[in-house]
Amino acid sequence: MSALPWQKLSRSLHTLHGDGDAEQAPINSPGHDDDPTVVEGAGAQTLSGKSATLSWAARTDVGLVRGHNEDSFLALAPTFAVSDGMGGHAAGEVASAIAVETISNNAPVHADDLLLGAAIETANAAVIEGAATGKGKVGMGCTASAVTIEQNKMAVAHVGDSRVYLLHNGALVRLTHDHSYVEELVDAGEITADEARVHPSRSVITRALGSDPDMYADHFTIDVSAGDRIILCSDGLSSMVEDSQIEAIAVSSATPQAAVDNLVASALQEGGHDNVTVVVIDVSDDGVIEQHRRSYLMRLAAVGAFIALVCAGLFVAATLFIRNSWYVGVNNETVAIYRGVNASLLGHDLYTLSETSTVKVADLPDATQANLRNGGVVVSSEDEAQATIQSYREQIESDKARAQQTADKTSVGTETSQANPAVPKSNDEAPAALGGDSDTANEEPEASPDEYDEEEGGE
Ligand code: MG
Repeated sequence: MSALPWQKLSRSLHTLHGDGDAEQAPINSPGHDDDPTVVEGAGAQTLSGKSATLSWAARTDVGLVRGHNEDSFLALAPTFAVSDGMGGHAAGEVASAIAVETISNNAPVHADDLLLGAAIETANAAVIEGAATGKGKVGMGCTASAVTIEQNKMAVAHVGDSRVYLLHNGALVRLTHDHSYVEELVDAGEITADEARVHPSRSVITRALGSDPDMYADHFTIDVSAGDRIILCSDGLSSMVEDSQIEAIAVSSATPQAAVDNLVASALQEGGHDNVTVVVIDVSDDGVIEQHRRSYLMRLAAVGAFIALVCAGLFVAATLFIRNSWYVGVNNETVAIYRGVNASLLGHDLYTLSETSTVKVADLPDATQANLRNGGVVVSSEDEAQATIQSYREQIESDKARAQQTADKTSVGTETSQANPAVPKSNDEAPAALGGDSDTANEEPEASPDEYDEEEGGE
């Protein structure tokens, strides 16, 4: 195989999608000694490469039925293409070779799908011109599916039934819509995708390069990311192998080379009725993605640091506030001084017992007791707390003194009452009371109105 990025590998005569002549059996035909999973030599070629952003491999195989290979591929990063030629001897392979060479010469450097589509349209003109100038044959044509990958963007342009798949997060998605008769039947709901693969008219192409000067290419751009795998293939793979099997092989193949080897081998195992060409491109970490990742992590770290700083500031402020907060509360039914606030956070008390006292809560008025028990009495300093307790102590002593006085008076009254058990309850009992030894008994009895009058009269 030459070093050219595009290859037209078979030089023998054959008609694309036709039954073909089998006068020259391919090296990997049934019964051949070679292991069909590693096909080398005539009719099969492989190419691989790697850039800073991509790694890829391509493989084309004549298949097990056809006598020559009309497929061509392009693997020249950042552009990759597959073309499936048609038109017979010295025609199909010429058409596909012209197509991939023209696409290579006109492909955009960036992931510009409009320009990539224009490159395919230029290739169409080149194929038509090649037929007109005798480079190939009149009526020759080909498909063309191409991608240009630039970092996380991929431009796609295509004509015909060669496909582009994207394997993303383990799921295979077909990106292109076949320009084929059976695809129209599928779109119309007349047949299923599985029925299309084996339909007798599955090779009828509704749009191709080489006939209509006004032919246009479908084109679009999608996002791709590190870890994505892109698969381009001719219908020699997609008509032989179900998409689910393509997905399983693509997922399980470690490298692009393993993927193309296994996919081509699978098409051959299914019969290899057509030329089969597969290009697999892995989007690798090109440094830009790593830079984006680092940038994201740095932003994340900056946000985390800011949040940590704010939290640390709040923690310091809260600690200072708690350390400078005081309240008078209850400890073992005595009044005590606490530092902090009477609350808990995440199971941790926000206060510490600073000082106890001998003042019993029960000796205080009910309202004060309620304040002490329900959150405590907040004060501005330890001194104020001590002053508050002192005021409680004084209040209790005062209350006790007053109570003692009251008790004393009560006691005196009781004693007086006991010392004068016959306190006159009526005027008739008065003389008996005058005979007592109490202070009251020693006092002169008040003069009766009659006596007053007599004294006044005496004077
Ligand atoms: Mg084909």
